[in-house]
Amino acid sequence: MAAIDLADIAPTDLDTRVWQEELADFVPDKVFDVHTHIYRWAFDLDPNRATGPFAGNIGRYFPEVTWELADEVDAVLMPGRRMERLAFPFPFPKPCDFEASNTYAAAEVRKGGTSRGLMLTHPGMSADDIEATVRRTGLIGLKPYRFYASTGDAVQCRITDFLPEHQIAVADRLGLIIMMHVSKRDAIADPDNIEDMLRLSDKYPGAKWILAHCARSYSAWAIEKAAAKLRGLPNVWYDTSTVCESDALDALYTGVGVDRVMYGSDDMIGPMRGKYVAFGKAWAYLSPDNHSLGLSHCDSRMTYVRYEQLRAMKRGARQLGLTTAQREALFYGTARALVDSVEVPQ
Ligand SMILES: [Zn+2]
Repeated sequence: MAAIDLADIAPTDLDTRVWQEELADFVPDKVFDVHTHIYRWAFDLDPNRATGPFAGNIGRYFPEVTWELADEVDAVLMPGRRMERLAFPFPFPKPCDFEASNTYAAAEVRKGGTSRGLMLTHPGMSADDIEATVRRTGLIGLKPYRFYASTGDAVQCRITDFLPEHQIAVADRLGLIIMMHVSKRDAIADPDNIEDMLRLSDKYPGAKWILAHCARSYSAWAIEKAAAKLRGLPNVWYDTSTVCESDALDALYTGVGVDRVMYGSDDMIGPMRGKYVAFGKAWAYLSPDNHSLGLSHCDSRMTYVRYEQLRAMKRGARQLGLTTAQREALFYGTARALVDSVEVPQ
């Protein structure tokens, strides 16, 4: 199979057809993307990064994501839409230059006017470190990540292993947002994650949680299990970034309420071609060059991950039936109101 240049985001006739026939009437004019990574690959301080896990993707295709690049990608994929964003650095595994990552993201976000950003954290940061950084940069919340778990286990760690309570307490006190990508093989279906979210959202009511990737439910089963417990939590929201299975969106919309759900892109994932597919209790990125499927009977090309996600957001809403107001809230209003509820630290 010929190698595909994933940085070539120019639409093919297939992409254009999917947009025009299926998506253009679904995506409103104003879009708030709550999940954009703004970074330089240079902030990955791994001395072997040229041969490391990001060499073949970020290093090869999107080594530097500026505000302008994010705008350019959205202009190609969702033409004519007015974009605002909640953006944050990319969580490169340690060693990562946290300070440069946060300074860079904050400076880029400022170009976006009404857009806002979050700071990348690791569990070794003190409460004073966190507070000083948000006050210095004007970033309005925290982006912890499982790679930095103090247990050293990025797969099965609990929330407080990578976001210790003294940091949540700062978010509580200042009313900050926490972008949470939950860990564990069963994701949000894991009883530890459910218990932690119930306990922490109650103990720290001022912190505003966004559970990324439909609470990391790439198909329905995980959020189906968790939603009955999480529904009604006043300080928990969800983003739809990179989830491409409509059953997951259906389970999220109906389980926690569509008014808690917000559009996110996880860019620069959106413009890459392929799809996050789910099977069994697993999910993975299917790309043009990581499979050996027989495709001679059909158009074998893949479209953008973004379009697969938007298809799922649209078709997952079929049984619910979104009003225009609900669709506009899903893509813009809910996120704008959440972001506006946070006072910019000074
Ligand atoms: Zn992300």
